[in-house]
Amino acid sequence: MEKEKGPNFLEEIIAEDVAAGKHGGRVLTRFPPEPNGYLHIGHSKSICLNFGLASKFGGVTNLRFDDTNPVTEDTEYVESIKEDIKWLGFNWANEFYASDYFEQLYEFAVELIKKDLAYVDDSSAEEIAAAKGTPTTPGKDSPFRSRSVEENLDLFSRMRNGEFKEGEKVLRAKIDMASPNMHLRDPLMYRIKHAHHHRTGDKWCIYPMYDFAHGQSDSIEKITHSICTLEFEVHKPLYEWFIDKLGIFPSKQYEFARLNMTYTVMSKRKLLQLVNEKHVDGWDDPRMPTISGLRRRGYTPESIRMFAEKIGVARRENIIDVGLLEFCIREDLNKTAMRGMVVLDPVKLVIENYPEGQTEVLKGENNPEAEDKGGYRDIPFGKELWIEREDFREVAEKKYFRLAPGLMVRLKHAYIIKCESFTKDASDRVTEIRCTYVPESKSGNDTSGINVKGTLHWVAAHAAAPVEVRLYDRLFRVEDPSSEEGDFKDYINPESLHVISSAMAEPTVALAKAGDKFQFLRKGYFCADKNSVSGKPVFNRTVTLKDTWAKEERKGA
Ligand code: ATP
Ligand code: MG
Repeated sequence: MEKEKGPNFLEEIIAEDVAAGKHGGRVLTRFPPEPNGYLHIGHSKSICLNFGLASKFGGVTNLRFDDTNPVTEDTEYVESIKEDIKWLGFNWANEFYASDYFEQLYEFAVELIKKDLAYVDDSSAEEIAAAKGTPTTPGKDSPFRSRSVEENLDLFSRMRNGEFKEGEKVLRAKIDMASPNMHLRDPLMYRIKHAHHHRTGDKWCIYPMYDFAHGQSDSIEKITHSICTLEFEVHKPLYEWFIDKLGIFPSKQYEFARLNMTYTVMSKRKLLQLVNEKHVDGWDDPRMPTISGLRRRGYTPESIRMFAEKIGVARRENIIDVGLLEFCIREDLNKTAMRGMVVLDPVKLVIENYPEGQTEVLKGENNPEAEDKGGYRDIPFGKELWIEREDFREVAEKKYFRLAPGLMVRLKHAYIIKCESFTKDASDRVTEIRCTYVPESKSGNDTSGINVKGTLHWVAAHAAAPVEVRLYDRLFRVEDPSSEEGDFKDYINPESLHVISSAMAEPTVALAKAGDKFQFLRKGYFCADKNSVSGKPVFNRTVTLKDTWAKEERKGA
């Protein structure tokens, strides 16, 4: 898994620019989210890249909200985006909004009109689309293309003043209707939208298109390296055309492959559908690939940054196995998470030779991976315990090392026990397992000389606290729901959430507060959910201890 990585291609480009003294060796990047949804794990790749590259070369990064579409944007999204970037561990140098540049962008547009490089077009959206041509056939000039500069200036200011209805007029760049690059066939610069903007209110009724806002915003901020995903490669000539014709700061665009990940979707539009149609419990549902969902699930910033480091950056599109993300969180939590014992599917176990009414307090290390074992916690022990139903069998088979009549196991941090008998109810369900214990086999002071293969987790019944546990599976049944036939939502896994309302936890675990992280022995890593109430925590399983998914799939095949 550990691969030696040299500098990626973006690092090489920036290193060359710095060495050549370009922009005085200055490096300034930006992260430019559109505030139309919550950030997802794909964005974290872009965030780690933009902030990571800049800091590597002594530069800084701006956070710029690309808020040029009033219809889909909202301050709720602005706030969540800021929270997520901070949580990931990055600090932006400046917080900017493309909407702060609306006046400047308007003036840039006027300048292009004056240079006869832009015109107001009265054609309808359908007419414009029809005249666009195809990649192999040239488009046709609009009948409004040869309007005079004076007429264009007049119409454009009247567009701004709200004299026209939506769709009545647009402003277009005058480039080349026969260009092999469709984006250069007189692209739209402005459209009319009589819509309220979350920052500029009703000040504007014309809004710049992405292509006329993005590069100019980069240039206004003097961004040196504008890093974006590959789908913008075809926009690059237009990005450069506007900057060139306006003679403004020459920001440069570089593209990399976006992150795709198995068993999920990675577009805010699709994630919004999952939220709106209540397939999930909000943007921060622990099954969502959003940063807020991963955080609620129990992911740490360190694990996400480790993931970004491991996937690297290239110009080739691929799809990353979600197993790699899970590997990263296991690595991190193994070193940091508190240990605890929780029985998810409890069955009663009685120790026949343990004195009635007696209890004792045993010690368990909080984290065997930590230097001082993370300290030790008190674990109550008594005559009646809860153990996992699946850890018992009525008949021992060969190579079965857990509990069955006649077999011995160790109870973690406690004693060796031997199963003597069990009882069942009318429906053939085991109700009680009866054992004897070996008093001289106490963990840490075992003089019994007995060797057993199996070790079980358990919780003492007199001290057990019921807790809710939420087990998650993949949100989708197929690796790449977006590429399947039909709607991606047809591939939602109907069993992605399994709620256990009364698992039994040892007392320390029951004290957990939202965000606290644990390894429940033999059961995986868990994080206390925000739905936890004092005395009744709710735990989300972050990830299992081992990758059972691959195994399950092979079984199914
Ligand atoms: P979506 O399609 O999910 O809505 P977007 O690209 O429209 O994503 P933006 O808010 O415009 O979202 O993205 C902000 C930045 O994050 C952009 O520079 C974009 O290229 C980058 N980004 C978005 N999705 C990914 C991804 N899957 N992998 C890497 N970078 C991404
Ligand atoms: Mg976008």
